[in-house]
Amino acid sequence: MNWHLLSISEVAECLKTSPNGLDSKIAQQLLIEIGHNKIIDTRKKSALKMFLSQFADLMVLILIIAAIISGLVGDVVDTIVIVLIVFVNSIIGFIQEYRAEKTMEALKTMSATSARIIRNSKVEDINAIELVPGDVVMLEAGNVIPADIRFIEAYQIRVDESSLTGESVNIEKSIDKLPHGEYVLGDRVNMGFKGTFITNGRAIGYVVSTGMNTELGRIAKMIQTDEVQTPLQKRLTVFGRKLTSIILLICAIVFFLGWWRGEDVLEVLLTSISLAVAAIPEALPALITIVLAIGAKRLVLNNALVRNLPAVETLGSVTYICSDKTGTLTLNQMTVQEVIVFSNVNNTPLLGENSHLLTAIALNNDVVKTENGAFMGDSTEIALAQYALSLHKDRFELEQLYPRIAEIPFDSTRKCMTTIHQTDRGQFAITKGAVDVLLNKLSPVFHKHIPEYESVLNEMANKGYRILGYAMKPLSSEQSIYSSSNVECDLQLIGLVGLMDPARKEAKQAVLECKKANIIPVMITGDHPLTAAAIAKELGILSSDSDKVLTGSELSLLSDRQFNEIVQYVKVYARVNPEQKLKIVKTLQSRNQIVAMTGDGVNDAPALKNADIGIAMGKNGTEVAKEASNMILMDDNFASIVVAVKHGRIVFDNILKFVKYIMTGNTGEILVILMAPLFNLPIPLLAIHILWINLVTDGLPGLALAFEPAEVDVMKRAPRKVDASIFSGGVAVHILWVGILTGLVTLLAQTWALNNGNPHWQTIAFTVLCFSQLGHVLAIRSDLYSVFKIGFFTNKPMLLAVALMVILQLAIIYMPFFNRVFKTNPLSFSDLAISILFSTIVFVSVELEKFIRLNRTQRALKMNK
Ligand code: ATP
Repeated sequence: MNWHLLSISEVAECLKTSPNGLDSKIAQQLLIEIGHNKIIDTRKKSALKMFLSQFADLMVLILIIAAIISGLVGDVVDTIVIVLIVFVNSIIGFIQEYRAEKTMEALKTMSATSARIIRNSKVEDINAIELVPGDVVMLEAGNVIPADIRFIEAYQIRVDESSLTGESVNIEKSIDKLPHGEYVLGDRVNMGFKGTFITNGRAIGYVVSTGMNTELGRIAKMIQTDEVQTPLQKRLTVFGRKLTSIILLICAIVFFLGWWRGEDVLEVLLTSISLAVAAIPEALPALITIVLAIGAKRLVLNNALVRNLPAVETLGSVTYICSDKTGTLTLNQMTVQEVIVFSNVNNTPLLGENSHLLTAIALNNDVVKTENGAFMGDSTEIALAQYALSLHKDRFELEQLYPRIAEIPFDSTRKCMTTIHQTDRGQFAITKGAVDVLLNKLSPVFHKHIPEYESVLNEMANKGYRILGYAMKPLSSEQSIYSSSNVECDLQLIGLVGLMDPARKEAKQAVLECKKANIIPVMITGDHPLTAAAIAKELGILSSDSDKVLTGSELSLLSDRQFNEIVQYVKVYARVNPEQKLKIVKTLQSRNQIVAMTGDGVNDAPALKNADIGIAMGKNGTEVAKEASNMILMDDNFASIVVAVKHGRIVFDNILKFVKYIMTGNTGEILVILMAPLFNLPIPLLAIHILWINLVTDGLPGLALAFEPAEVDVMKRAPRKVDASIFSGGVAVHILWVGILTGLVTLLAQTWALNNGNPHWQTIAFTVLCFSQLGHVLAIRSDLYSVFKIGFFTNKPMLLAVALMVILQLAIIYMPFFNRVFKTNPLSFSDLAISILFSTIVFVSVELEKFIRLNRTQRALKMNK
């Protein structure tokens, strides 16, 4: 349908709607008929595909082929067992991947956008997926257009359509019907398209199409992108590839050695293949996705909604948190505290009344009334409208008297807004905004009063008030074009209003925590420097003499080099334009800092995109900011950012533990097989034993490490360097020495059994290796503290996983069925006890390692004091 060629009334007729909106019942019916307003992801893997993809792994395929060969040659039990183990492993892998996917999907749904609409003549906010054709949507700067719409009202509206058309210039929109002809999307200026966003102005439009019927839906396939790997995953993939070639070489050697020694070729082949499967950490990057998804789920509980997994990983490395003031460091609960009326105001005859300031406060305001009569809109504006109402100036009644005929909407670069009203005596404009901005727009006759205005302003700002100035001016009745340049000039200041927005109590605590964790909190605000400084001092952001406050205009005078030199001292940026946030991000990044930056407006999007962690406000943020961010802060609270960083650190710690555990286990298994011939011992493990330990025993306890609570010092140490190797800081050494120890302990147990003529030496070696791994996983739950100190019961999933593995292992030892399958034998009580004793060696040694490390750390701390 060519909606752009129809007049507004024709569009309304086609859609059976009106400016009062649809009837709710009809809308519900339409929703059932047409479906949700969402883009369907055509690339998503179905559950079956996801399950089958578990087998698409090269190693698993080799294993299945080997199992089939072994079956053909005669050992059917082995074949069945191997296939079963692979199957169980695939099911575990599938369940984990499926859950991770569902978690991410749930997170995406939670970050879904809402739409402000009119239905049954009432304004309401609904989830954008519930929009239907005919709905009337209200839009303003910062909104992503939620469906394809035909504009019916447009005030200075500009739309960024680059995501759809590639056109980087913002398009000005209008409401007039277009003359007949062919129009490409970018030329349909009375239409708004789903997924594009409003950079300026206000508008109302009819929804004409939704979901896959929109222009965006038509090209949906083109825009769907694959999930990206996190930096850690990328590094691990590269590392894994290198390791794979080494391990394949080792396996080839094992095979040829065995063959040369005259062992059963098939058994040696299976052993080498199992070893390759066991030793190559091919599943590690995928498992990290799962650990990150578990982390993402936990972050939601702490009010941080991550939009992509790499963010969870980066959070732990953040060194700077640059935060907005209003609403994040403060409560965004404004109340008018002080009102100053300037007495030298010309009695504007236009209003025919004296209380200009109150009238201006009521009229220059965009709040709307909800169904229950409450005000809805920006918190500053709500406070102002409420204040006027308390003094009997009702915004809606006054607007009947002095209708708004035009407006120049607020934007945070101009820092003011203007409304133009009609009276029977002519037109007049009211401008409200940052006082220092208004002072530059005064008519020359008032310039002499500027020092007086400034001193009042400074006095109020020192109290931490957010101050807005009000100015007025009569307009010539011929004026019909209203722009910032021809209206917001030659003004007359009529008064100031000071609003209080109290600092958040928990933000003070969070600032302190940041400092302990070597993270620097910085305030970035559009507000006045004195107001900003007063609040920053109260919160502890400004705490020493070297801490600086820099204003946007000072910043614009600095060269890149000069700014680079002082950036480390600036703790408060005041009166900055959103564009300058980008400069702050880039300068900090050029100094190797990892920057988390908050933002809420359209113009914050570039800074949010460029920051290492772009954080959008969930409550007061625009959709554009949300789209550009990596994380959405659901309660807009600074303290939640710090909690998120803490969780980022915990997740990373746990990933490290996980890598440590898996790699150590793999090393141990390789060494058992490689070292046995060196000590003149038969290879103690059968192929199925290796597979069992690697694909089943290791998996669950390893994953349970993801649930490990925070280390005691998690927020007392410096952030991890992003480019630091995960094998640094003793990880590689740990993997090696514990791997060697595990191998040696297993062989020692085997030797002991062989020397005693114990026929069950193979079962003993298998059990010792399995239990040693379980001991290891318990010991590495904490990096520094003994498991007895952190408490055995602080990670329930781990307890369950370990208990389950112990039960399974006992079943393998004692149940006749499993004896046949795994070629094991029931051990006597003393054999079992001795096996367990051998297994504790790894646990005790790792505990000892931590004890020595803890002592060293504590000694170093003491010396530093
Ligand atoms: P922060 O960046 O911490 O959220 P802020 O809310 O002060 O601080 P902006 O929203 O960019 O930042 O506002 C900048 C300035 O514009 C404010 O300090 C205020 O003087 C002025 N201002 C804010 N809201 C309005 C409004 N609705 N109408 C007119 N002027 C406004």
